[in-house]
Amino acid sequence: MKIECLVCSNAKNLIKFVWNNYEIYNCKYCKLYFCPELVEIEGNSSPVDDIGIKMMEDSFFKTKKIASLYVKKRIVEYEKMLERKCQNILDIGCGPGVFYKPYKDLSINWKGVEVSPFWLEFGKKNKIPILEKNLKEIKEKFDIITAHQVLEHVENPMQFMNQILKILKPGGILHLEIPNHFSLSSSIRRISPILSYDYGFIQPPMHMRAYSSHTIKQLFEKNQLIIRDIFTCSNNDITWGQVRKYSLLQKLFFTFSASIGKGSLLIGIAKKTNA
Ligand SMILES: [Zn+2]
Repeated sequence: MKIECLVCSNAKNLIKFVWNNYEIYNCKYCKLYFCPELVEIEGNSSPVDDIGIKMMEDSFFKTKKIASLYVKKRIVEYEKMLERKCQNILDIGCGPGVFYKPYKDLSINWKGVEVSPFWLEFGKKNKIPILEKNLKEIKEKFDIITAHQVLEHVENPMQFMNQILKILKPGGILHLEIPNHFSLSSSIRRISPILSYDYGFIQPPMHMRAYSSHTIKQLFEKNQLIIRDIFTCSNNDITWGQVRKYSLLQKLFFTFSASIGKGSLLIGIAKKTNA
């Protein structure tokens, strides 16, 4: 089987190596790391662990204030880039839909989309509009599309981008949030296979692709998107962080990592052309 880079289709500059019991490919051109075989459970995605799901369910009830603060800051940034008022947002892989209420309070129509039966049921129970749809089936077009901690689960990133572009309005904004493969915590997990089963953010079977700023730049350029910003930041960044409650120790680690340019979150924001 001929292996090609999943982002830049490069087949020549791939370096293959073995980490514990699995093979990893690294594209020297766009710097993507990936395992060729992705274990799919449902939809076009690798599984999310149960602890993560439980943590996110709790977060929905305990972190409404954090979500609301983030939304107030982000909408200012989004609308600056949009150069118009934002009417609607699609949140791909929205989990519990923690952003629904804060956007509704600003009269912005928020919709989520999920493949996980757990979140679909959660949405019904809590009256949150979470669509049980494949992206291909969505007909509506959106001003803003966000995908937080989704891309690293997706089997084919170019196909995923293609589907997003079909439902993003002209001039619309895409906001990706991905684990930073070159973060401090990830770098520690790349020292030796004896110390870590995971290779940075290659964490089988959950994460079979690992991204860095270079890869996101390639991904945007290959899809004719106008890059607005690609940067790394702390998990508790005041505008682009995650809707979670963190301990003081975690916050100190995140702040330190970010201060040396090795924050755990990788953010990519791009705009679709107006034509
Ligand atoms: Zn590549």
